[in-house]
Amino acid sequence: MPELPEVETLRRSLLPTLVGCRIDGVRVYDRRLRYPVRTRTLKRLAAGRHVQDVERRAKYLLLALEDGGRILIHLGMSGRLSLAPAGKPREPHVHVVFELNDQRELRFRDPRRFGLVDVATANEIKRDRRLTTLGVEPLSDDFNADRLHTSTRGLRKPIKNFLMDAKKVVGVGNIYASEALFLAGVHPKRAAGRLSLERWRRVISSVKRVLHDAIERGGTTINDFQNGHGDPGFFQLSLRVYDREGEPCKRCAGIVRRKVLAGRSTFYCPTCQR
Ligand code: ZN
Repeated sequence: MPELPEVETLRRSLLPTLVGCRIDGVRVYDRRLRYPVRTRTLKRLAAGRHVQDVERRAKYLLLALEDGGRILIHLGMSGRLSLAPAGKPREPHVHVVFELNDQRELRFRDPRRFGLVDVATANEIKRDRRLTTLGVEPLSDDFNADRLHTSTRGLRKPIKNFLMDAKKVVGVGNIYASEALFLAGVHPKRAAGRLSLERWRRVISSVKRVLHDAIERGGTTINDFQNGHGDPGFFQLSLRVYDREGEPCKRCAGIVRRKVLAGRSTFYCPTCQR
């Protein structure tokens, strides 16, 4: 499943080549995605508009149109977005195609169809519940120790669950949360509301570092590695604690342990993480 680093990698790769292009037409081959594609609305709001920017909010990719409207794309479990020459035969599972004015097409391919392609006007996007209910972006300046320390006082929720709660912070999946807390030396069960400002600083810089590392490695999908599908990735080679139960800690002489927190496997070193 694509995580934040994969979507950010995709955004960065599309940005220089898509901005300035005009969408001349939209073809929908199968509208049965997570929600049915609103074909007519999509064509009406997208066709004839230039793409002005490629943005990301959590795991949504947003194509900003010249009139302020947005095309929303979510990759779901197996979605892929790619540019292809207009004449190239359509691959299996390509459900939506945006025709560009330079003989290329932006193709949305999704074998499992948990993805989403939708559109919103400039006004609609501002109050779109899919976006307005989301927590802070971990790579933004709003994700900072002063703010998080203040806003969590008294909160008993374990820090790991807090980091993974999309209403609080977006895009920090299970593996990234485990890795970041190991780097920060903070026990995953530690109550978020009892972390000192200094410890919040370490948690925040560790989350940013883990995500930046994954982006630099091209946003390797760790879940592909886990499930044994797709190309082998690189991020998992640098995993410090995740999936290493019973193995020696990479920092001390301790042994990595596993606990289930909020239904998710959590790996940590009981010596290094307090
Ligand atoms: Zn250790």
